[in-house]
Amino acid sequence: MLKTDVLIIGGGLAGLSAAKALEGKKDYLLAERESRPGGLSATLKKGGFHFDYSGHLLHLRWPETTKLILGALGKNCVRIKRDARVYAHKSWTPYPFQANLSGLPPKVKSECVSGFLAAYAARKAEAISGPEVFTRWTRRVFGEGISNHFMLPYNAKLWQYPLERLTTEWCAPFVPLPSPEEVVKGAYGKKSEGLGYNTVFNYPKRGGIGALPNALAMNLGGLRLGLEVESLNLRKGVANVRHFGPVHFKRLINTSPLKDLIARAEDAPVAVKRAAASLRHNTVYVLNLGVKGVKSDMHWGYFPGADFPFYRAGIATNFSKELAPRGCASFYIEIATPGSALDLASAEEAVIKGLKACGLIKSAGQIVEKLWLKIPCAYVIYNRERAEALPVIFDWLKSRKALSIGRYGAWKYSFMEESVKEGLGAAAAILKRR
Ligand SMILES: Cc1cc2nc3c(=O)[nH]c(=O)nc-3n(C[C@H](O)[C@H](O)[C@H](O)COP(=O)(O)OP(=O)(O)OC[C@H]3O[C@@H](n4cnc5c(N)ncnc54)[C@H](O)[C@@H]3O)c2cc1C
Repeated sequence: MLKTDVLIIGGGLAGLSAAKALEGKKDYLLAERESRPGGLSATLKKGGFHFDYSGHLLHLRWPETTKLILGALGKNCVRIKRDARVYAHKSWTPYPFQANLSGLPPKVKSECVSGFLAAYAARKAEAISGPEVFTRWTRRVFGEGISNHFMLPYNAKLWQYPLERLTTEWCAPFVPLPSPEEVVKGAYGKKSEGLGYNTVFNYPKRGGIGALPNALAMNLGGLRLGLEVESLNLRKGVANVRHFGPVHFKRLINTSPLKDLIARAEDAPVAVKRAAASLRHNTVYVLNLGVKGVKSDMHWGYFPGADFPFYRAGIATNFSKELAPRGCASFYIEIATPGSALDLASAEEAVIKGLKACGLIKSAGQIVEKLWLKIPCAYVIYNRERAEALPVIFDWLKSRKALSIGRYGAWKYSFMEESVKEGLGAAAAILKRR
């Protein structure tokens, strides 16, 4: 039986960062089931194109992780000012919608502005206690117009879950809240593009976002690709690894989806298994396209309209020309489902129709390459069941001295830098014997 001090499940950014911080200080085994590192931040190559699992842009905010990420990328990194847009009512308007209503038809614009001002006036008087559901939150904060024309249709498409049951703990960093002055100015005066968490971002010059995990994976002595942890017993400290056999460990860092970890944990009590079984997520299908003759400079656009099957579409070559052969652009188009399979052929037809309708392409003849990628567990659902389940699961994991981190290990809506931060934090806790 192989013995290790620390077993890390998953070689995405969380697992790689933990391994990097343990390297040379503690014996560890990093088991990644795929034949390449990177998890969701990997990049795949096809026909001269580099395709990510949809746009993966680096929003850096903390000194330690910024240093590690920029240090790993070295000169292979550029800083870019966001050009994000919204396509609604047959016109493009800059993102965020709520602060850039100027491009909309007059009736829609006045509905949105008057609704926002009325909601803003009522907001101060309203005392909110406890978690709020999305439908109530958006109407309270943005009013009827912005909710009906953007927030509700866009989020229904993205989450694929009843919005009257979706709770709002995830909103704070991701949904920009403009002031009344910004809303009025954005409707009748100047554009306000500087709002939100991602106004500037970093991205590798070459190799797609996969350049980052590849750089972190270099010289990691304990990284093993093609190893899938099939089951484990946390009390005994033993994991069964496919095609490899048992691995004995003292501490565990898990970065695989929390729901799967608990399903695989033989010694998890019934209450913990039940809690994990109540966790929900959506599934995202990404259609990557190689396209000739593209004119737009946009980085990505949001599509609230029901006539578009996708909620977001972006042009990756507008972050890095190196992602496609000369004269070509590469698109990523994201379609969410509640977990059900997508009919790829009819989805593709609807995507092409949508891209033509909003003017991003003129004809299907421009498409020279395609690659569908599936993200089975893409956005974890925030609901009452999640709020009740997580303490039950994490109390048990704590009693076993196991750490579960990263976007899916911690079961939250988070971003790449946060996975890196949690990887470093988990390694530090183990080195300090916490
Ligand atoms: C559509 C979409 C767009 C996004 N865009 C951005 C963005 O623009 N910017 C940003 O910062 N973030 C973005 N994110 C979030 C980002 O992808 C994640 O925060 C980050 O990649 C998560 O890294 P991780 O290591 O926590 O998890 P993962 O990348 O999921 O890594 C987990 C790893 O565990 C492995 N694994 C699973 N089970 C097992 C097992 N049993 N045995 C062994 N290995 C296993 C998997 O193969 C995987 O490699 C986006 C996410 C999605 C879904």
